[in-house]
Amino acid sequence: MNANIYSVIACSFPRSAAVPALIDREGATYTYEDLARETARLAHLLASLGLKPGDRVAAQVEKSPQALFLYLAAMRAGMVYLPLNTAYQEHEVDYFLKDAEPALVVCRPQAKAWIEPLAQRAGTRHVLTLNEQGGGTLMEAAAGQPGHFETAEVKEDDLACIIYTSGTTGRSKGAMLSHGNLASNGLTLRDYWCFSESDVLIHALPLFHVHGLFVAVHCALLAGACMRFHRRFDPKAVLEDFSRATVLMGVPTFYTRLLNEPELTREACRGMRLFVSGSAPLLAETHRAFAERTGHAILERYGMSEAGMITSNPYDGERRPGTVGFPLPGVNVRVADEQDRPLPAGQIGGVQVKGPNVFLGYWRMPDKTREEFTADGFFRTGDVGVFSHDGYLSIVGRAKDLVITGGYNVYPKEVELAIDEIPGVLESAVIGVPHPDFGEAVTAVVVRTREGAGLTEEAIIRHLKGRLAGYKVPKRVYFVEGLPRNAMGKVQKNVLRERFSRSD
Ligand code: AMP
Repeated sequence: MNANIYSVIACSFPRSAAVPALIDREGATYTYEDLARETARLAHLLASLGLKPGDRVAAQVEKSPQALFLYLAAMRAGMVYLPLNTAYQEHEVDYFLKDAEPALVVCRPQAKAWIEPLAQRAGTRHVLTLNEQGGGTLMEAAAGQPGHFETAEVKEDDLACIIYTSGTTGRSKGAMLSHGNLASNGLTLRDYWCFSESDVLIHALPLFHVHGLFVAVHCALLAGACMRFHRRFDPKAVLEDFSRATVLMGVPTFYTRLLNEPELTREACRGMRLFVSGSAPLLAETHRAFAERTGHAILERYGMSEAGMITSNPYDGERRPGTVGFPLPGVNVRVADEQDRPLPAGQIGGVQVKGPNVFLGYWRMPDKTREEFTADGFFRTGDVGVFSHDGYLSIVGRAKDLVITGGYNVYPKEVELAIDEIPGVLESAVIGVPHPDFGEAVTAVVVRTREGAGLTEEAIIRHLKGRLAGYKVPKRVYFVEGLPRNAMGKVQKNVLRERFSRSD
C-alpha cells in the first residue's frame, strides 16, 4: 500500500464523499470531493512548475482552507512541506530559506516584496502568493489544472514535512517527519480518542504547528469527520460553535479564556464529547474549574514537533489534572537518568521516547541528531518528567529550564505550583538568573489577580519558606501584568530571563 499520508487519509474518506470535510466560518463549505479536487489541482500545479519529489515547498501564509489544501497537495505530489509561523520576521525567514532551500515559497501578498529577494538568494525558483481569503497567484495558477491527480507513491520513511522547532536557544532546527510518522500518529490518536464520521471538530489552532496541522487535521480527516475552521481563536465564536460540534482541541489559553465567558455552562457543552489540551502545561486549577463549570474533564496530552504525540490521558478512565497520562499505544516512553538508565516510578529524570512517531532527524544536522538519540535508539525529548506508581506521566519542566543554584537542582514547576497556591496569585513563572554566589538565583515572576493587588514580594517569600527547602525559595519576586507567551501558549522563559537578568 502507498504510505503517502494523503493516500492513508483517502482510504478513510466517508462512504459518500459529498459530505463536508471543512466548514469555513468565514465562507464556503468543502466536501471530501472538493478537498480531493482542490488538492489535485494544486498538486498538478506543483508538478507543472517543475518541482520534483523531495523538493521543499515553504509556506508562510495566514490560515485558510486553501493553506490546508496546499499542505495536502504537497503530500500528494511527494514534496516536502515546510510551514512557517506567520510571526517570523525577515531575518528569521532568511535563515529558514537558506537552510531548507525550497523550490517554491508561498507567502502573503503583502510579504512578497521582502520575501522575493530572500528566496532568490536561497536559490528558490518560484514565489507565489496566498491571502487569507484564499486568493492570490497560487490559486489563480491552480484554477485551470485538472481535478484528478495520481498521488505519488512513497515509502514510510520518505520525508513529508520539515517543522522548525521554536528554538529558544541556539539555531532553530528542522525536524524531519516522514509519511510513516504522520500516519502512525494520526491513526493512533483517531482510535485512542474515538473519532468517527459523526464528529465535528472545532479547528481554531494555527496551521503552521504540529498541533493544528497534524493532530487536529489528521484526527478529523482520518475519521471522515468534519472540521469547523476558525481563522483564529475567539472564545465567543468558539462557544457559539459548541452547539454544532463534538470536539475542541486547544492550547491551555483557550480554556482559561473560555472560563472568562459567562456563557460557558453545562448546557452550552451538551453536544460536546471531548475537550483536548496540549502544547503547554494545563494548570490543574484550570482543569478543575472547567470540570466544575461544564461537567467535562479536559483530556491533556503531551507531544512535540520531533515526535508528534507521545502520551495522553485516557479516553475512558481517570483524566488526572497536572499529568499528561500514559504512553500512546505503540509508543515507548521512559524517564531516564543522565546515563540513559531507566528510572523507577516516583523519580524525576529526562523523558525519552521511541516508536513509529519519532522523527527521522534534524535537517542537515547529522551531528545534532546523533547527540539527541541514546545508544539504544531513544530520543531525548529535553523534557523532565516523572511517572506515578500507576503509570501517569507528569512533566516537571524543560531540562534547559532547570535552575542550578549553589549546586542544587531546582525544578521550576515545583516552585511555580507552590506559588500558584497562594491566594492572590493568578500564575507564575520561575527562572534562573545569573548570580555571583549561587551561579544562578531562583527568581519568580508573578501575575496577581485583581483581588491580589496588595500581595508583596515579602509575603510570597515568607509563605514559601514554610513549604519549600530554603534553596528552592526565590531570591527575588517580580510582578508583571501577564506572562509572555508564544502563539502556542508556551511561556517564553527566555524572554523573562533576558528581562530579569538585567534588573538589579
Ligand atoms: P513543540 O515542538 O512546539 O510542539 O513543543 C513541544 C514541547 O511543548 C514539549 O517538549 C513540552 O516541553 C511542551 N509540551 C507539549 N505538551 C505539553 C503538556 N501537555 N504539558 C507540558 N508541556 C507540554
